[in-house]
Amino acid sequence: MSGKQILPGSTLGVLGGGQLGRMFCVAARTMGYRVVVLDPDPHCGAGLIADIHIQADYTDPAALEKMAEQCDAITLEFENIPSQSVRQVAAKTAVYPAAESLEIAQNRDAEKQFARKAGLQPVPYATISQLEDLSPAAAEIGFPAILKSNTLGYDGKGQFVVNDLGELESAFASAGAVSCVLEKQINIHCEISAIVARNADARLASFPVAENQHRNGILHMSIVPARVSDEIRQQAVDKAALLAGALDYVGILAVEFFVSEDNVLYFNEMAPRPHNSGHYTKDACVTSQFEQQVRMMCGLTPGDTRLLSPVVMVNMLGDLWLPDWSAIFAQNNIKLHLYGKTEARPGRKMGHFNVLAEDVGAALATAESVFSELSGS
Ligand code: ADP
Ligand code: MG
Repeated sequence: MSGKQILPGSTLGVLGGGQLGRMFCVAARTMGYRVVVLDPDPHCGAGLIADIHIQADYTDPAALEKMAEQCDAITLEFENIPSQSVRQVAAKTAVYPAAESLEIAQNRDAEKQFARKAGLQPVPYATISQLEDLSPAAAEIGFPAILKSNTLGYDGKGQFVVNDLGELESAFASAGAVSCVLEKQINIHCEISAIVARNADARLASFPVAENQHRNGILHMSIVPARVSDEIRQQAVDKAALLAGALDYVGILAVEFFVSEDNVLYFNEMAPRPHNSGHYTKDACVTSQFEQQVRMMCGLTPGDTRLLSPVVMVNMLGDLWLPDWSAIFAQNNIKLHLYGKTEARPGRKMGHFNVLAEDVGAALATAESVFSELSGS
């Protein structure tokens, strides 16, 4: 190990105190680090776990300064932290991932271009920056297509499925005429994600590939091992590693892929952080993605990512609040994780549960029956 190692007793910071920040704080504190979270929300889930909660806006220079002074290294919980803020703290202390990687991940067009150069294959798409671009983009991509805003989209927000030029024009107007990409809507056989960890010495570890099912644009379930061929699984891991290398990335990088019906692996998007589809690692792997995040930012060797058990992760959204807990606790192989949010809204991620079983079929059967009990369907 060549770089400086940051060891227990040191202080780690996280920009963002939602569920990802919270689970990072739990992992870091478990390992004996002090934790500082910066988040404007006085009730953010990570605030209850961190040693110090700096309650301030992500662009507040004095708050960022204070955080940088207190922390031996800082990480991010989501990609929409202004990169200028990251640059500010990076002038004082180590920040992983770097602002350059963050800026690429903040923009769909930039990340697709970068991924293509690194040797990944994005879904066919065209860039749209003004009204005049719509008609040539439509001619190039065809319909049906999906219009996605270039920045600030998540959980299907800022996306419109369009079937003709008229729909495309009104979708562009609804998106606020901001810069967008128009993507070909492909026939998806399944969606998978690969999460890799890379440290400053370029040591890399990859978690088992997850198969992801979405509902209304939001992740519903992750199934591990993914039910795809060994070739596809290996390709996904290799491509994610390629991307991490090309970015000279330090931290956790999640890469979402589509497997088309004709068995092509398309790059969809990346996230410069732990990912919802990696929550299964908390119970089913030797090392969780959050412990791995700590290890990467501290210059430690990546932890073993071995899968200890087949697992299905199910997201719990505000739509089904309050759930009937007895449906979960009646099972002896479900691990419940709640994020400490008091206010439930439709689509809001409140928690998740992991079902561990001897095989993926059994885990999936339990996950589906418990979920339908919870949702009363
Ligand atoms: P988000 O940033 O909201 O996660 P994504 O680009 O990952 O946005 O899209 C959300 C979901 O919409 C995907 O997981 C997939 O189910 C569907 N989707 C997105 N793009 C396409 C596409 N080009 N063809 C078919 N389905 C798509
Ligand atoms: Mg996505």
